[in-house]
Amino acid sequence: MKYVSIIILLLSSFFLTAQTVIPTPETVVQGNGEFRTKNLQADIRQTTDAALPSEAYRLQITENGIEIEASGDAGFFYARQTLKQLGTEQQDGTWIIPCLKIEDRPRIGFRSFLLDSGRQYQKVTTIKKYIDMAALLKMNYFHWHLTEGLGWRIEIKQYPRLTEVGAFVGKGPEQQGFYSQKEIKEIVRYAAERCITVIPEIDMPGHAEAALVAYPELGCFGDTIQVPENGFTQNIFCAGKTHTLDFLKNVLDEVCELFPSEYIHLGGDEAPKGNWDTCPDCGQCIKEHGLKDSHDLQLWFSAQMANYLKSKGRKAIFWGDVVYQEGYPLPDNTVIHWWNWRGHKDTAFKEALKRNLPVICGTNYYTYLNFPVTPWKGYEAARTFNIKDVYTANPSYGKEDSPLLLGMSCALWTDYGVTEDMIDRRLFPRILAIAEQMWSRSEPESFEQFYQKVKDKKEWFEKQGYMFGPGLKSEVTDDFSWD
Ligand SMILES: [Zn+2]
Repeated sequence: MKYVSIIILLLSSFFLTAQTVIPTPETVVQGNGEFRTKNLQADIRQTTDAALPSEAYRLQITENGIEIEASGDAGFFYARQTLKQLGTEQQDGTWIIPCLKIEDRPRIGFRSFLLDSGRQYQKVTTIKKYIDMAALLKMNYFHWHLTEGLGWRIEIKQYPRLTEVGAFVGKGPEQQGFYSQKEIKEIVRYAAERCITVIPEIDMPGHAEAALVAYPELGCFGDTIQVPENGFTQNIFCAGKTHTLDFLKNVLDEVCELFPSEYIHLGGDEAPKGNWDTCPDCGQCIKEHGLKDSHDLQLWFSAQMANYLKSKGRKAIFWGDVVYQEGYPLPDNTVIHWWNWRGHKDTAFKEALKRNLPVICGTNYYTYLNFPVTPWKGYEAARTFNIKDVYTANPSYGKEDSPLLLGMSCALWTDYGVTEDMIDRRLFPRILAIAEQMWSRSEPESFEQFYQKVKDKKEWFEKQGYMFGPGLKSEVTDDFSWD
Protein backbone atom coordinates (compact mmCIF):
# COMPACT_ATOMS: atom_id res chain seq x y z
CA MET A 1 0.00 0.00 0.00
CA LYS A 2 2.82 2.32 0.99
CA TYR A 3 4.55 1.70 -2.34
CA VAL A 4 1.33 2.23 -4.29
CA SER A 5 0.84 5.65 -2.76
CA ILE A 6 4.46 6.58 -3.45
CA ILE A 7 3.99 5.51 -7.08
CA ILE A 8 0.76 7.54 -7.32
CA LEU A 9 2.57 10.52 -5.80
CA LEU A 10 5.42 10.21 -8.28
CA LEU A 11 3.01 9.84 -11.20
CA SER A 12 0.90 12.80 -10.15
CA SER A 13 3.96 15.00 -9.71
CA PHE A 14 5.11 13.94 -13.18
CA PHE A 15 1.74 14.88 -14.65
CA LEU A 16 1.60 18.18 -12.77
CA THR A 17 5.00 19.11 -14.14
CA ALA A 18 4.12 18.00 -17.63
CA GLN A 19 0.93 20.04 -17.60
CA THR A 20 2.29 23.29 -16.25
CA VAL A 21 1.10 26.15 -18.42
CA ILE A 22 1.93 29.77 -17.69
CA PRO A 23 -0.28 31.78 -17.59
CA THR A 24 -2.42 29.20 -15.77
CA PRO A 25 -5.64 28.21 -17.59
CA GLU A 26 -8.97 28.79 -15.86
CA THR A 27 -9.80 25.08 -15.53
CA VAL A 28 -7.81 21.96 -16.32
CA VAL A 29 -9.42 18.54 -16.12
CA GLN A 30 -6.92 15.72 -16.21
CA GLY A 31 -7.59 12.80 -18.55
CA ASN A 32 -5.91 9.42 -18.94
CA GLY A 33 -3.27 8.56 -21.46
CA GLU A 34 -1.65 10.66 -24.11
CA PHE A 35 -1.96 11.64 -27.74
CA ARG A 36 0.94 10.89 -30.07
CA THR A 37 1.42 12.37 -33.51
CA LYS A 38 4.11 13.16 -36.06
CA ASN A 39 2.01 15.84 -37.70
CA LEU A 40 0.69 18.06 -34.94
CA GLN A 41 -0.91 20.75 -37.13
CA ALA A 42 -2.86 18.22 -39.21
CA ASP A 43 -4.27 16.56 -36.11
CA ILE A 44 -5.87 19.69 -34.67
CA ARG A 45 -9.60 19.99 -35.33
CA GLN A 46 -11.00 23.52 -35.00
CA THR A 47 -14.70 24.16 -34.40
CA THR A 48 -16.31 27.58 -34.20
CA ASP A 49 -18.55 28.22 -31.20
CA ALA A 50 -19.92 31.73 -31.67
CA ALA A 51 -21.19 31.76 -28.08
CA LEU A 52 -17.66 31.90 -26.64
CA PRO A 53 -16.13 35.32 -25.75
CA SER A 54 -13.62 36.53 -28.35
CA GLU A 55 -10.40 35.36 -26.62
CA ALA A 56 -11.79 32.27 -24.88
CA TYR A 57 -11.15 28.69 -25.97
CA ARG A 58 -11.83 25.07 -25.13
CA LEU A 59 -9.04 22.60 -25.76
CA GLN A 60 -9.58 18.86 -25.55
CA ILE A 61 -6.83 16.31 -26.03
CA THR A 62 -7.81 12.65 -26.26
CA GLU A 63 -5.95 9.61 -27.52
CA ASN A 64 -7.64 10.22 -30.88
CA GLY A 65 -6.69 13.84 -31.44
CA ILE A 66 -6.95 17.48 -30.48
CA GLU A 67 -10.07 19.58 -30.62
CA ILE A 68 -10.21 23.35 -30.21
CA GLU A 69 -13.37 25.39 -29.89
CA ALA A 70 -13.35 29.19 -30.07
CA SER A 71 -15.44 31.97 -31.53
CA GLY A 72 -12.65 33.42 -33.68
CA ASP A 73 -8.97 33.80 -34.46
CA ALA A 74 -7.83 34.95 -31.00
CA GLY A 75 -9.34 31.98 -29.16
CA PHE A 76 -7.90 29.46 -31.65
CA PHE A 77 -4.52 31.19 -31.40
CA TYR A 78 -4.41 31.11 -27.58
CA ALA A 79 -5.41 27.44 -27.56
CA ARG A 80 -2.43 26.70 -29.81
CA GLN A 81 -0.14 28.71 -27.53
CA THR A 82 -1.31 26.54 -24.63
CA LEU A 83 -0.78 23.42 -26.72
CA LYS A 84 2.83 24.43 -27.39
CA GLN A 85 3.54 24.37 -23.66
CA LEU A 86 1.81 21.02 -23.14
CA GLY A 87 3.49 18.99 -25.82
CA THR A 88 6.93 17.45 -25.79
CA GLU A 89 8.70 16.64 -29.03
CA GLN A 90 10.68 13.40 -29.18
CA GLN A 91 13.93 12.94 -31.08
CA ASP A 92 12.13 11.19 -33.93
CA GLY A 93 9.78 14.19 -34.36
CA THR A 94 6.82 12.60 -32.56
CA TRP A 95 4.78 14.91 -30.34
CA ILE A 96 3.43 13.55 -27.07
CA ILE A 97 0.63 15.48 -25.39
CA PRO A 98 -1.15 14.37 -22.21
CA CYS A 99 -4.92 13.88 -22.44
CA LEU A 100 -6.86 16.64 -20.74
CA LYS A 101 -9.53 19.24 -21.14
CA ILE A 102 -8.96 22.95 -20.67
CA GLU A 103 -11.42 25.82 -20.58
CA ASP A 104 -9.77 29.21 -20.59
CA ARG A 105 -10.33 32.94 -21.06
CA PRO A 106 -8.45 36.07 -19.97
CA ARG A 107 -9.02 37.99 -16.76
CA ILE A 108 -8.61 41.38 -18.45
CA GLY A 109 -8.98 42.54 -22.04
CA PHE A 110 -5.87 44.73 -22.45
CA ARG A 111 -2.51 43.05 -21.81
CA SER A 112 0.54 44.83 -23.10
CA PHE A 113 4.30 44.64 -23.24
CA LEU A 114 6.29 47.86 -23.82
CA LEU A 115 9.70 47.88 -25.41
CA ASP A 116 11.75 51.09 -25.39
CA SER A 117 13.43 51.35 -28.78
CA GLY A 118 14.13 55.04 -28.20
CA ARG A 119 16.99 55.04 -25.68
CA GLN A 120 18.48 51.94 -27.28
CA TYR A 121 17.75 50.70 -30.78
CA GLN A 122 17.01 47.02 -31.33
CA LYS A 123 17.19 45.05 -34.58
CA VAL A 124 13.94 44.08 -36.34
CA THR A 125 14.62 40.41 -35.50
CA THR A 126 14.80 41.40 -31.82
CA ILE A 127 11.48 43.26 -32.04
CA LYS A 128 9.94 40.10 -33.52
CA LYS A 129 11.48 37.94 -30.79
CA TYR A 130 9.64 39.95 -28.12
CA ILE A 131 6.40 40.00 -30.11
CA ASP A 132 6.71 36.19 -30.13
CA MET A 133 7.28 36.27 -26.37
CA ALA A 134 4.21 38.45 -25.79
CA ALA A 135 2.18 36.00 -27.90
CA LEU A 136 3.44 32.99 -25.90
CA LEU A 137 2.34 34.80 -22.74
CA LYS A 138 -1.08 35.59 -24.30
CA MET A 139 -0.61 39.35 -24.33
CA ASN A 140 -2.54 41.22 -27.02
CA TYR A 141 -0.77 44.59 -27.33
CA PHE A 142 2.82 45.51 -28.12
CA HIS A 143 3.45 49.07 -26.94
CA TRP A 144 6.35 50.37 -29.00
CA HIS A 145 8.16 53.38 -27.50
CA LEU A 146 9.57 54.94 -30.67
CA THR A 147 10.69 58.45 -29.76
CA GLU A 148 13.03 59.62 -27.02
CA GLY A 149 15.57 62.28 -26.22
CA LEU A 150 18.21 59.75 -27.27
CA GLY A 151 16.66 58.77 -30.58
CA TRP A 152 13.78 59.27 -32.99
CA ARG A 153 13.23 55.79 -34.46
CA ILE A 154 10.25 56.05 -36.83
CA GLU A 155 10.67 57.19 -40.41
CA ILE A 156 8.39 60.15 -41.20
CA LYS A 157 8.45 60.89 -44.95
CA GLN A 158 7.47 64.54 -44.52
CA TYR A 159 10.33 65.22 -42.08
CA PRO A 160 13.38 63.19 -43.17
CA ARG A 161 15.76 64.86 -40.72
CA LEU A 162 13.91 63.18 -37.82
CA THR A 163 15.67 59.96 -38.75
CA GLU A 164 18.62 61.28 -40.77
CA VAL A 165 19.71 63.30 -37.73
CA GLY A 166 17.42 62.35 -34.83
CA ALA A 167 18.11 58.62 -35.05
CA PHE A 168 21.84 59.16 -34.52
CA VAL A 169 22.06 61.61 -31.58
CA GLY A 170 23.07 58.97 -29.01
CA LYS A 171 26.71 58.00 -28.59
CA GLY A 172 26.34 54.30 -27.78
CA PRO A 173 26.85 51.58 -30.40
CA GLU A 174 23.25 50.40 -29.99
CA GLN A 175 21.78 53.90 -30.11
CA GLN A 176 22.14 54.29 -33.86
CA GLY A 177 19.27 53.51 -36.20
CA PHE A 178 15.60 53.76 -37.04
CA TYR A 179 12.77 51.71 -38.51
CA SER A 180 11.78 52.43 -42.10
CA GLN A 181 8.08 52.60 -42.90
CA LYS A 182 8.51 49.33 -44.79
CA GLU A 183 9.99 47.63 -41.71
CA ILE A 184 7.23 49.05 -39.53
CA LYS A 185 4.52 47.68 -41.81
CA GLU A 186 6.22 44.28 -41.66
CA ILE A 187 6.31 44.38 -37.85
CA VAL A 188 2.64 45.43 -37.63
CA ARG A 189 1.73 42.54 -39.94
CA TYR A 190 3.91 40.07 -38.00
CA ALA A 191 2.24 41.10 -34.74
CA ALA A 192 -1.27 40.91 -36.21
CA GLU A 193 -0.63 37.30 -37.24
CA ARG A 194 -0.05 36.66 -33.55
CA CYS A 195 -3.22 38.45 -32.44
CA ILE A 196 -1.15 41.40 -31.21
CA THR A 197 -1.92 45.04 -31.97
CA VAL A 198 1.08 47.37 -32.10
CA ILE A 199 0.48 50.65 -30.26
CA PRO A 200 3.08 53.24 -31.28
CA GLU A 201 4.20 55.82 -28.73
CA ILE A 202 5.18 59.26 -29.97
CA ASP A 203 6.13 61.08 -26.78
CA MET A 204 5.03 64.73 -26.55
CA PRO A 205 5.72 67.40 -25.46
CA GLY A 206 8.70 65.99 -23.47
CA HIS A 207 11.45 63.44 -24.22
CA ALA A 208 11.79 65.31 -27.53
CA GLU A 209 15.49 66.28 -27.62
CA ALA A 210 16.30 64.08 -30.64
CA ALA A 211 13.52 65.72 -32.70
CA LEU A 212 14.67 69.18 -31.57
CA VAL A 213 18.24 68.48 -32.66
CA ALA A 214 16.82 67.66 -36.11
CA TYR A 215 14.41 70.61 -36.20
CA PRO A 216 15.38 73.25 -33.58
CA GLU A 217 12.53 75.53 -34.68
CA LEU A 218 10.04 73.15 -33.00
CA GLY A 219 11.33 74.20 -29.58
CA CYS A 220 10.58 77.40 -27.68
CA PHE A 221 13.77 79.30 -28.60
CA GLY A 222 15.00 77.58 -31.78
CA ASP A 223 18.49 77.11 -30.35
CA THR A 224 20.86 74.18 -30.63
CA ILE A 225 20.36 71.76 -27.76
CA GLN A 226 22.33 69.03 -26.02
CA VAL A 227 21.04 65.50 -25.73
CA PRO A 228 21.41 64.15 -22.18
CA GLU A 229 23.08 60.78 -21.75
CA ASN A 230 20.43 59.84 -19.17
CA GLY A 231 17.18 61.41 -18.02
CA PHE A 232 15.41 64.33 -19.70
CA THR A 233 15.60 68.13 -20.02
CA GLN A 234 13.29 71.14 -20.32
CA ASN A 235 13.93 71.18 -24.09
CA ILE A 236 10.45 70.07 -25.10
CA PHE A 237 8.14 70.81 -28.07
CA CYS A 238 6.83 74.39 -27.89
CA ALA A 239 3.07 74.38 -27.29
CA GLY A 240 2.66 78.01 -28.32
CA LYS A 241 3.87 77.78 -31.93
CA THR A 242 1.32 76.87 -34.59
CA HIS A 243 4.02 75.30 -36.77
CA THR A 244 5.00 72.90 -33.95
CA LEU A 245 1.39 71.75 -33.50
CA ASP A 246 1.06 71.37 -37.28
CA PHE A 247 4.29 69.35 -37.35
CA LEU A 248 2.98 66.95 -34.68
CA LYS A 249 -0.36 66.55 -36.46
CA ASN A 250 1.47 65.77 -39.72
CA VAL A 251 3.55 63.18 -37.86
CA LEU A 252 0.35 61.65 -36.48
CA ASP A 253 -1.07 61.46 -40.02
CA GLU A 254 1.77 59.16 -41.03
CA VAL A 255 1.66 57.27 -37.73
CA CYS A 256 -2.05 56.53 -38.19
CA GLU A 257 -1.40 55.35 -41.74
CA LEU A 258 1.22 52.88 -40.48
CA PHE A 259 -0.55 51.64 -37.35
CA PRO A 260 -4.20 50.50 -37.58
CA SER A 261 -4.39 50.39 -33.74
CA GLU A 262 -7.43 51.96 -32.11
CA TYR A 263 -4.98 53.40 -29.54
CA ILE A 264 -2.10 55.78 -30.22
CA HIS A 265 0.16 56.57 -27.23
CA LEU A 266 1.12 60.24 -26.96
CA GLY A 267 3.38 60.00 -23.90
CA GLY A 268 2.96 63.20 -21.90
CA ASP A 269 5.28 62.22 -19.03
CA GLU A 270 8.16 64.14 -17.50
CA ALA A 271 7.84 67.48 -19.31
CA PRO A 272 9.63 70.17 -17.24
CA LYS A 273 8.14 73.61 -17.86
CA GLY A 274 11.25 75.80 -17.56
CA ASN A 275 11.21 76.83 -21.24
CA TRP A 276 7.45 77.16 -21.44
CA ASP A 277 7.47 79.54 -18.44
CA THR A 278 9.76 82.00 -20.28
CA CYS A 279 8.70 81.47 -23.92
CA PRO A 280 6.67 84.40 -25.31
CA ASP A 281 4.67 82.10 -27.62
CA CYS A 282 3.76 79.73 -24.79
CA GLY A 283 2.86 82.78 -22.63
CA GLN A 284 0.64 84.15 -25.41
CA CYS A 285 -1.09 80.76 -25.77
CA ILE A 286 -1.80 80.62 -22.02
CA LYS A 287 -3.35 84.14 -22.19
CA GLU A 288 -5.33 83.51 -25.34
CA HIS A 289 -7.00 80.35 -24.02
CA GLY A 290 -7.48 81.59 -20.45
CA LEU A 291 -5.23 78.88 -19.02
CA LYS A 292 -3.95 78.90 -15.42
CA ASP A 293 -0.27 78.21 -16.04
CA SER A 294 2.19 76.09 -18.02
CA HIS A 295 0.82 72.85 -16.50
CA ASP A 296 -2.59 73.82 -17.79
CA LEU A 297 -0.93 74.55 -21.12
CA GLN A 298 0.18 70.91 -21.28
CA LEU A 299 -3.43 69.83 -20.77
CA TRP A 300 -4.58 72.20 -23.52
CA PHE A 301 -1.80 70.90 -25.81
CA SER A 302 -2.68 67.27 -25.00
CA ALA A 303 -6.37 67.97 -25.67
CA GLN A 304 -5.50 69.40 -29.12
CA MET A 305 -3.61 66.24 -30.01
CA ALA A 306 -6.22 63.87 -28.55
CA ASN A 307 -8.95 65.72 -30.46
CA TYR A 308 -6.91 65.38 -33.63
CA LEU A 309 -6.77 61.62 -33.09
CA LYS A 310 -10.50 61.66 -32.33
CA SER A 311 -11.14 63.18 -35.75
CA LYS A 312 -9.41 60.08 -37.17
CA GLY A 313 -11.47 57.72 -35.02
CA ARG A 314 -8.57 56.88 -32.69
CA LYS A 315 -8.03 57.02 -28.94
CA ALA A 316 -5.14 58.81 -27.22
CA ILE A 317 -3.25 57.20 -24.35
CA PHE A 318 -1.34 59.54 -22.01
CA TRP A 319 0.93 58.74 -19.09
CA GLY A 320 -0.65 59.60 -15.72
CA ASP A 321 1.23 62.90 -15.43
CA VAL A 322 -1.66 64.63 -17.24
CA VAL A 323 -4.12 64.04 -14.39
CA TYR A 324 -2.01 65.28 -11.45
CA GLN A 325 -3.55 68.76 -11.80
CA GLU A 326 -7.05 70.01 -12.48
CA GLY A 327 -7.41 72.18 -15.56
CA TYR A 328 -8.25 72.15 -19.24
CA PRO A 329 -10.48 69.11 -19.87
CA LEU A 330 -9.20 66.14 -21.86
CA PRO A 331 -11.60 64.77 -24.48
CA ASP A 332 -13.51 61.53 -23.96
CA ASN A 333 -11.25 59.50 -26.27
CA THR A 334 -8.46 59.82 -23.66
CA VAL A 335 -7.04 56.81 -21.81
CA ILE A 336 -4.73 57.21 -18.79
CA HIS A 337 -1.67 55.00 -18.37
CA TRP A 338 -0.86 54.86 -14.65
CA TRP A 339 2.89 54.38 -14.13
CA ASN A 340 4.49 56.44 -11.37
CA TRP A 341 3.90 54.47 -8.18
CA ARG A 342 7.31 55.44 -6.81
CA GLY A 343 6.62 59.15 -7.14
CA HIS A 344 2.85 59.50 -6.75
CA LYS A 345 1.49 56.15 -5.51
CA ASP A 346 -2.03 55.66 -6.93
CA THR A 347 -2.83 59.33 -7.62
CA ALA A 348 -3.04 58.89 -11.39
CA PHE A 349 -5.32 55.85 -11.04
CA LYS A 350 -7.72 57.67 -8.70
CA GLU A 351 -7.67 60.92 -10.69
CA ALA A 352 -8.41 59.07 -13.93
CA LEU A 353 -11.46 57.43 -12.34
CA LYS A 354 -12.60 60.84 -11.04
CA ARG A 355 -12.53 62.12 -14.62
CA ASN A 356 -14.32 59.02 -15.89
CA LEU A 357 -11.35 58.05 -18.09
CA PRO A 358 -10.32 54.41 -18.71
CA VAL A 359 -7.03 53.33 -17.10
CA ILE A 360 -4.19 50.99 -17.98
CA CYS A 361 -2.23 49.90 -14.90
CA GLY A 362 1.52 49.61 -15.40
CA THR A 363 3.28 50.88 -12.31
CA ASN A 364 7.05 51.28 -12.06
CA TYR A 365 6.71 49.00 -9.01
CA TYR A 366 6.41 46.10 -10.01
CA THR A 367 5.96 46.03 -13.77
CA TYR A 368 9.06 47.95 -14.94
CA LEU A 369 11.19 44.93 -15.66
CA ASN A 370 14.31 46.92 -16.54
CA PHE A 371 14.61 47.50 -12.77
CA PRO A 372 16.98 44.64 -11.89
CA VAL A 373 16.77 42.29 -8.90
CA THR A 374 19.96 43.76 -7.43
CA PRO A 375 21.54 47.22 -8.05
CA TRP A 376 23.17 47.90 -11.42
CA LYS A 377 24.41 51.22 -12.86
CA GLY A 378 21.74 53.94 -12.31
CA TYR A 379 19.39 51.44 -10.65
CA GLU A 380 20.18 51.83 -6.96
CA ALA A 381 18.77 49.49 -4.27
CA ALA A 382 15.49 51.45 -4.12
CA ARG A 383 14.96 50.66 -7.80
CA THR A 384 15.18 46.86 -7.56
CA PHE A 385 12.60 44.13 -7.00
CA ASN A 386 12.23 40.38 -7.24
CA ILE A 387 9.61 37.99 -8.58
CA LYS A 388 8.01 37.58 -5.16
CA ASP A 389 7.37 41.34 -5.04
CA VAL A 390 5.63 41.07 -8.40
CA TYR A 391 3.55 38.04 -7.47
CA THR A 392 2.47 39.22 -4.03
CA ALA A 393 2.57 43.04 -4.04
CA ASN A 394 2.05 44.40 -7.56
CA PRO A 395 -0.09 47.58 -7.20
CA SER A 396 -1.23 47.20 -10.84
CA TYR A 397 -2.91 43.85 -10.09
CA GLY A 398 -6.42 43.35 -8.74
CA LYS A 399 -8.01 46.60 -9.90
CA GLU A 400 -10.73 44.85 -11.93
CA ASP A 401 -13.50 46.03 -9.58
CA SER A 402 -13.39 49.32 -11.45
CA PRO A 403 -15.47 49.35 -14.64
CA LEU A 404 -12.95 51.84 -16.07
CA LEU A 405 -10.06 49.38 -15.84
CA LEU A 406 -8.86 48.74 -19.37
CA GLY A 407 -6.06 46.38 -18.41
CA MET A 408 -2.48 45.90 -17.38
CA SER A 409 0.90 46.59 -18.93
CA CYS A 410 4.53 45.80 -18.29
CA ALA A 411 7.61 47.51 -19.64
CA LEU A 412 11.23 47.08 -20.56
CA TRP A 413 12.82 50.53 -20.64
CA THR A 414 16.38 50.77 -21.86
CA ASP A 415 17.78 53.48 -19.55
CA TYR A 416 21.48 53.29 -18.60
CA GLY A 417 22.36 51.19 -21.62
CA VAL A 418 20.15 48.11 -21.39
CA THR A 419 21.23 46.62 -24.70
CA GLU A 420 19.64 43.79 -26.67
CA ASP A 421 21.51 40.90 -25.08
CA MET A 422 20.60 42.11 -21.55
CA ILE A 423 16.83 42.14 -22.10
CA ASP A 424 16.01 38.46 -21.44
CA ARG A 425 17.69 38.32 -18.04
CA ARG A 426 15.61 41.28 -16.88
CA LEU A 427 12.31 39.99 -18.26
CA PHE A 428 12.65 36.36 -17.17
CA PRO A 429 11.44 34.97 -14.89
CA ARG A 430 9.59 38.00 -13.49
CA ILE A 431 7.43 38.58 -16.59
CA LEU A 432 5.83 35.18 -15.97
CA ALA A 433 4.28 36.51 -12.76
CA ILE A 434 2.91 39.51 -14.66
CA ALA A 435 1.53 37.35 -17.49
CA GLU A 436 -0.17 35.24 -14.81
CA GLN A 437 -1.78 38.35 -13.30
CA MET A 438 -2.91 39.62 -16.71
CA TRP A 439 -4.48 36.40 -17.92
CA SER A 440 -5.19 33.87 -15.23
CA ARG A 441 -8.65 33.74 -13.67
CA SER A 442 -7.77 30.93 -11.30
CA GLU A 443 -7.21 31.78 -7.65
CA PRO A 444 -3.61 32.90 -6.94
CA GLU A 445 -1.51 30.11 -5.43
CA SER A 446 1.06 30.59 -2.68
CA PHE A 447 4.19 32.26 -4.03
CA GLU A 448 6.15 29.06 -3.37
CA GLN A 449 3.73 26.98 -5.46
CA PHE A 450 3.79 29.49 -8.29
CA TYR A 451 7.57 29.84 -8.24
CA GLN A 452 7.95 26.07 -8.41
CA LYS A 453 5.87 26.15 -11.61
CA VAL A 454 8.10 28.91 -12.97
CA LYS A 455 11.22 26.87 -12.26
CA ASP A 456 9.63 23.81 -13.90
CA LYS A 457 9.04 25.94 -16.99
CA LYS A 458 12.55 27.45 -17.17
CA GLU A 459 13.95 24.83 -19.52
CA TRP A 460 10.97 25.15 -21.86
CA PHE A 461 11.28 28.93 -22.16
CA GLU A 462 15.04 28.63 -22.63
CA LYS A 463 14.38 26.20 -25.48
CA GLN A 464 12.24 28.91 -27.09
CA GLY A 465 15.26 31.22 -26.89
CA TYR A 466 14.54 33.25 -23.73
CA MET A 467 17.29 33.18 -21.10
CA PHE A 468 16.40 33.44 -17.43
CA GLY A 469 18.11 35.84 -15.04
CA PRO A 470 17.80 35.52 -11.27
CA GLY A 471 14.26 35.76 -9.88
CA LEU A 472 15.26 36.32 -6.26
CA LYS A 473 18.14 38.15 -4.59
CA SER A 474 19.38 34.88 -3.10
CA GLU A 475 19.87 33.59 -6.65
CA VAL A 476 22.23 36.41 -7.66
CA THR A 477 25.59 34.70 -7.40
CA ASP A 478 28.86 36.59 -6.92
CA ASP A 479 29.90 35.93 -10.49
CA PHE A 480 26.54 37.00 -12.01
CA SER A 481 26.58 40.11 -14.17
CA TRP A 482 23.57 42.16 -15.30
CA ASP A 483 25.71 43.38 -18.20
ZN1 LIG B 1 7.18 77.82 -26.25
